[in-house]
Amino acid sequence: MEYICESCGTLLIHSNPVTLDSMKDVHNQLCSVKRQNIVTPVPQVPQKSTPPAVSTTPSQSQTALSPPSAEQASAAPAPGGQTTISLTGSGTNYSKIEGPIDPEFKSKRQIKGMYQGIKVWGPIDPPGQVGIWGTEVTVDFDICIADGACIEACPVNVFEWLDTPGHPASEKKPFMIREKDCIFCMACENVCPPQCVKIFQKGQ
Ligand code: SF4
Ligand code: SF4
Repeated sequence: MEYICESCGTLLIHSNPVTLDSMKDVHNQLCSVKRQNIVTPVPQVPQKSTPPAVSTTPSQSQTALSPPSAEQASAAPAPGGQTTISLTGSGTNYSKIEGPIDPEFKSKRQIKGMYQGIKVWGPIDPPGQVGIWGTEVTVDFDICIADGACIEACPVNVFEWLDTPGHPASEKKPFMIREKDCIFCMACENVCPPQCVKIFQKGQ
């Protein structure tokens, strides 16, 4: 699917219509031609009867100057995200914990560190105990059994697998590296079998 900006001719292409809509929104906010039209209204001049031909195919230079799409902006983990914890250590004497996640954990636990910019709430004692991860998209990794339902359900690709070797519940976890892309659809929370996902709207 594609979208061509009627103001500047920029071509946006993506196979996912939801992602394409996000790309259109980002572009419409950044489009310099649209912004110029808003700031400096052009006086109306009588038009001649023959309108200029409109090309439906943007030029090579227009395509090359397209701003980064929403997909490109969110495709990679946050560059330089801070990491202050390790997933290895001496914590091997732990058993799998049953769900659900404690919805009040933010008032009971402390932030023990960051992993690629994502908060990690303690207690932690890797590799057997790794705590609850995230701010808006939160998952109790000590409960997660890694069936992947949340990853499959998420329409905006918030998660990617993170290896957690030596953890008693599962040796990989759905890392919410793109949690800032969350649209709060609640799909991941609703599909999680052990109910270890909790979504917080911004500011909660
Ligand atoms: S609430 Fe929806 S958008 Fe947000 S992480 Fe879960 S599935 Fe993805
Ligand atoms: S749905 Fe729940 S148990 Fe399954 S991978 Fe996601 S967080 Fe883990």
